[in-house]
Amino acid sequence: MMYHSHSRESSLPCLHCHPTTYIRLVQHLIERCLLLQMSQAECIRALAKHACIHPAITVTVWRGLQKENTEFFQAYFNATSPRHFVRHMPKTPRFGRRNHRKY
Ligand SMILES: [Zn+2]
Repeated sequence: MMYHSHSRESSLPCLHCHPTTYIRLVQHLIERCLLLQMSQAECIRALAKHACIHPAITVTVWRGLQKENTEFFQAYFNATSPRHFVRHMPKTPRFGRRNHRKY
């Protein structure tokens, strides 16, 4: 049996002790990403960053969801892939920048 530690700061269930709960949580998070119309790559990045979920797990769970919901994913990819979302709105300052910083 592999030794592993539980971090108390994390709200995640333990993958090794509670795999079913963990996978269900990952599914839930992926579904939230889908609602935000995120691509798989974006979803993987978001889960890794915000929930500390390993990309390999996200991919595995994503594939599982895809297998169970083929039609949904077909429609989803059709709706999301050709479009390029404008995420980064350019910030145009209304006032000129003043540099009064003293170093
Ligand atoms: Zn554990």
